Amino acid sequence: MDLATPIQNLSGIGPVFQKKLKKLGIKTVDDLLFHFPHRYEDFSNVKKISQLKINENCCIGGKILGIETSRTWKKGLSLTKAVAQDDTGAIEAVWFNQPYLTKVLKQGDLVYLAGKTTLGKHGFYLSNPAYEKSSDCAPRGSAHLTHMGRIVPVYPETEGLSSRWLRNIIQPILVNLKNDLRDPLPEKIIREQNLLPIKEAVWQIHFPDSLALAERAKERFSFEELFFIELWVLRERMKLAEEKAPPIPINIELVKRLVESLPFKLTDAQRKSAWAILKDLEKPRPMNRLLEGEAGSGKTVVATLAALNAIKAGCQVAFMAPTEILAKQHFKTIWEIVKNFKLNIGLLTGKEDKFYSKKLKNDWIEISRQKLLEKTLSGEINLLIGTHALIQGEVKFGNLALVIIDEQHRFGVEQRARLVRGPTSNIPHFLSMTATPIPRTLAMTIYGDLDLSVIDQLPKGRKKIITAIVPPSERKKTYDFIRKEVKNERQAFVICPRIEEEGKLEIRSVKAEYEKLSKQIFPDLRVAMLHGKMTGSEKERTMRDFRNKKTDVLVSTSVVEVGVDIPNATVMAIEGVDRFGLAQLHQFRGRVGRSEHQSYCFLFADAAGIAYNRRLRALVHCQNGFELAEKDLAIRGPGDFTGARQWGIPDLVMNSLGNISLLEKTKEYAREILAKDPRLKAYPLLKERLGQFREKVHLE
Ligand code: ADP
Ligand code: MG
Repeated sequence: MDLATPIQNLSGIGPVFQKKLKKLGIKTVDDLLFHFPHRYEDFSNVKKISQLKINENCCIGGKILGIETSRTWKKGLSLTKAVAQDDTGAIEAVWFNQPYLTKVLKQGDLVYLAGKTTLGKHGFYLSNPAYEKSSDCAPRGSAHLTHMGRIVPVYPETEGLSSRWLRNIIQPILVNLKNDLRDPLPEKIIREQNLLPIKEAVWQIHFPDSLALAERAKERFSFEELFFIELWVLRERMKLAEEKAPPIPINIELVKRLVESLPFKLTDAQRKSAWAILKDLEKPRPMNRLLEGEAGSGKTVVATLAALNAIKAGCQVAFMAPTEILAKQHFKTIWEIVKNFKLNIGLLTGKEDKFYSKKLKNDWIEISRQKLLEKTLSGEINLLIGTHALIQGEVKFGNLALVIIDEQHRFGVEQRARLVRGPTSNIPHFLSMTATPIPRTLAMTIYGDLDLSVIDQLPKGRKKIITAIVPPSERKKTYDFIRKEVKNERQAFVICPRIEEEGKLEIRSVKAEYEKLSKQIFPDLRVAMLHGKMTGSEKERTMRDFRNKKTDVLVSTSVVEVGVDIPNATVMAIEGVDRFGLAQLHQFRGRVGRSEHQSYCFLFADAAGIAYNRRLRALVHCQNGFELAEKDLAIRGPGDFTGARQWGIPDLVMNSLGNISLLEKTKEYAREILAKDPRLKAYPLLKERLGQFREKVHLE
């Protein structure tokens, strides 16, 4: 057995468990060893029965004197009772609903039991204790118990994999492989930072001798992960610096003409970002810039300015959006912005076979996919807008110089290289845009390969969005308010967590809510629905009608979460708010308040628990994404990473968010190593691990 051994070669893992493990991304022994517990249970306090005190977490070892299950106990529940005895006394153990225990634990068995002592009618007993038969432990080498008499690991219980099962699998692997593990971290770093070496760390993270050692093991792996991130980021930056990109001169006249043709005045922040981007594009090195700005701050027009300048310099531009709906919206918006500049714009979304080119009078020319691909290769299409379909094999550009990505952070060098299959050896300039607030210090460290522009200002005349938590008793009033807004020619979104009803759960669905709103609540208004299961053209028609004010109320799933721009909509009503994270709710709210009209966000709170209400209150009081992200994290507390992921911050990094000095340190080391050895030739293991890490955490 070695690290590369596939799990199906291990004894004790049948096809069912193989499948469960694979769902967690665990395919090899290596993956198993690096599947870490998220907490521990301290069963190290082994005591004699006569010494036990009340309400004590303890572990005892003894012989089972008897065990039986009574099945008729209360409403079909079962109750299993056993008595265990050591040389000092006896104690009762009680389990609820685990009748199979009478098959596992038999009279006369030697067992260890661990749990809390609880006071009952006849003295105290162990309630639902964990157990391990001492005969189970014979073949396990040095550590003689797996689940008892020690601090035991608790793994995240997913896919029906219990911690008990994982311990039984992982412990023998550890015993087996302990001496074969090689450390990817250079010895110098281990020494200087006083980190646990890998052999020790892997053992201590699964089966720690003390909680302090578990903590040190965690520290080591956090350090390693951050070090990998920094290495990757710096290497990307170095690789990119060696690449060439076509310099795109700034055409001041052109830029002015476009800016003057806009129906609004650009904000200073928009001007500043646009200028930084244009200046970057003049250089013969690929630009790698992140444009960050709150929802509604006007990123699209800034990107369009850069695109137009590039196109008029003779280059092609690709514009990628995360969803079909957004790609279509960009296609139309950008068309509106540049319609007097004689461009050919294509739309390629991949799902349907319906594609467009330049506009004639009022209609788009529809051409076949094949034609569109040809025109892209020949360079006739100046700007190709689309979804991920843009980077799929068949799309080839003749002269691609700028790639704009909406609502995504990064793109690796290799991915970029893949985009350009044209005749040049250049790689394109890159501009990504996001409304996800990443604090600047953090962005600088973890996205050190990106330059950052921030639009920290909303267009003039925007009003604060009024946000309110709506209890069930205020529902009717809120609906009346929505009706009033519609009568004033405004529009409303209603967001539901589900498409259709599922089981008996009280979660609102788009379909049911659409029925209710259109028939009972707003029979006098025009109500439509939108969700991911509709076809591309259905979605498009629905969005078009909403944009053209042919619909008053749009009931939708989260498909409209990011980017959607309907400036006339002023109401965002959200059902089932406890189903959404704070980051999502903030994004939904960003769909309104996109014009000078006063806008509103209503949070329908039915089942929301207390903890969730704190988040809702944060949303009510705070409109700034950065501040909200911080509040969200404070409410969740460290170690709850789901929030971080939502805000676009990788788990690992969250771990050390409070520890900028650790980030700095890892960056220092990464720099030092790469300066001497940019290809990591002297560090083959580090290089290999870095590659695996990159894939695992999807760094690109
Ligand atoms: P986001 O940054 O969320 O992508 P958009 O680019 O979609 O924002 O812009 C939001 C709305 O604001 C659009 O309707 C756009 O036309 C409008 N807009 C952009 N810049 C300005 C400005 N300087 N003044 C007024 N409205 C603007
Ligand atoms: Mg946008």
